[in-house]
Amino acid sequence: MTSDFETQMRAVSLRVTRPRLAVLAALRDHPHIDTDRVIALVRADQPTVSHQAVYDVLRALTDAGLVRRIQPAGATARYESRVGDNHHHVVCRSCGAIADVDCAVGHAPCLTASDDHGFVVDEAEVVYWGTCPDCATERSSPLIRQFGRK
Ligand SMILES: [Zn+2]
Ligand SMILES: [Zn+2]
Ligand SMILES: [Zn+2]
Repeated sequence: MTSDFETQMRAVSLRVTRPRLAVLAALRDHPHIDTDRVIALVRADQPTVSHQAVYDVLRALTDAGLVRRIQPAGATARYESRVGDNHHHVVCRSCGAIADVDCAVGHAPCLTASDDHGFVVDEAEVVYWGTCPDCATERSSPLIRQFGRK
């Protein structure tokens, strides 16, 4: 796995560093996490890495196209390492859980606007909002909520 990351970084002329590898591994294992989670995961493995270093790594990887930054309305920015396919997301209004949704219309997801007004379109942001299964269960079962789940 690590060697995959190294190949990806070399392909975009990024220097391979341990913090960069750690961030990519964290995002592979935990897609759609925010900066704080990324910092916690990286520092669990490499305690000497500073918060600022993680911010810098996230920016460098995002700028290089190896990491995608998404920010649903009202939520903190989240990061994922599944890039290049412009897939969509479904977001729980209640707890903020996020899951990937493949595009319903095909391989170049929603990039063909019905009228592009002369713009060069490179991204289509489609967000599905709803209630995740956990929250839906909680809402319909007051007993479960009372005694706590998880
Ligand atoms: Zn939820
Ligand atoms: Zn995603
Ligand atoms: Zn789509």
